[in-house]
Amino acid sequence: TSKPRKPGRLFFANPGPTNIPDSILRAMDVPTVDFMSEDFIDIYDQGVAGLKRLLFTTGEVFIYTSSGHGAWEATIQNLFSPGDTILMPECGYFSRTWGAMAKRFGLNTEMPETDWRRGPDPATITERLLADKSHQIKAVCIVHNETSTGVALDLPAIRAAIDAAKHPALFLVDTISSFASLEFRMEDWGIDAVVGGSQKGLMLPAGLAFTAVSEKALEAHKSATLTRFYFDWTKMMARRHRSFVGTVPVPPFYGLVESVRLLESEGIENVWRRHHRLAEATRRAVSIWSGNQGVAFFCSDPKRRSDSVTAVKMPEGHDAEAVRKIAYDRFNVSLGGGLDPLGGQVFRIGHMGDLNEPMILGTLSIVELSLRLAGVPHANGGVNAAIDYLAAA
Ligand code: PLP
Repeated sequence: TSKPRKPGRLFFANPGPTNIPDSILRAMDVPTVDFMSEDFIDIYDQGVAGLKRLLFTTGEVFIYTSSGHGAWEATIQNLFSPGDTILMPECGYFSRTWGAMAKRFGLNTEMPETDWRRGPDPATITERLLADKSHQIKAVCIVHNETSTGVALDLPAIRAAIDAAKHPALFLVDTISSFASLEFRMEDWGIDAVVGGSQKGLMLPAGLAFTAVSEKALEAHKSATLTRFYFDWTKMMARRHRSFVGTVPVPPFYGLVESVRLLESEGIENVWRRHHRLAEATRRAVSIWSGNQGVAFFCSDPKRRSDSVTAVKMPEGHDAEAVRKIAYDRFNVSLGGGLDPLGGQVFRIGHMGDLNEPMILGTLSIVELSLRLAGVPHANGGVNAAIDYLAAA
């Protein structure tokens, strides 16, 4: 049985993957070329140079044919040895999963659980590092933007917390849902390894992921003994591409060059500002909806509300999946669901990537309409509040 056609475009409002601009789709529509040819190497080099500019780093970047999980895995394998201790404050689904992966690789993973609605306090990191007199902790690992909760952490404050303890631990950051959406400056912020992916701020399909590394991280790599093969940075550095132990996927790099062109033609600082503006419009709507004991921000600290995703918490006794189903089935709008323990308790509005005012207003309208149809307590007028904000912004 064929399903009835849904007219119009799918409004994709998930917090990743994100909408792919038409020019990126077209750029990736290329026939097979020799990945060792000068023509492709030139495209490859342009893509990598662009990535470095957008990350504000001059160090090495290792790129993988995988989603973000592969970059997590590669980063663990290349930086640590069995039994090494790392500090990974647990504040959402992604920090929990990254920590679980590190444990599986035989690391001693300290995961102090924090309030998922606001994330760790940097002072607790200083405290823990000060207590580690013999410098057993090899790295502090932080998810910049917890996509599952909509909480964004202040990375310079965490850098300062590590410095306050005068501790030599590496500073590792997952920037998967913040890169090219939220302000991010790898070198200025003293970050040693950054894990990123293609399918969010870069507006590409999933399937490319990377780790950018500092000199200090490369030094640590030299003595790291965890088993690795395909993701081995030393092997990658021996290759012309300085990445990939095997066939290089060609089309994503044509896409990457176009993605960098689009981001730089807008200006990366303007990209951050646009994300802030559209996120703020979303927040104005959620603030109104939260009246009448209705839905609420999952992130309890207004200063930590993310500019790339807003997680909306349901009132007791209401299922977020019912709202998502109405939005998707009836209106062709795809919202993010709650992950793992947050299943049914939150839905998530993605506002990252190739997004403008009509797209966010369309999404917010359908969220408000779906809340009404699902009988979820909320106050009306969220979309108007978003319009008022955008009119003045
Ligand atoms: N880290 C964060 C913050 C994420 O948002 C995601 C995916 O959404 C991941 C890691 C995992 O990346 P992937 O799904 O590309 O493997």
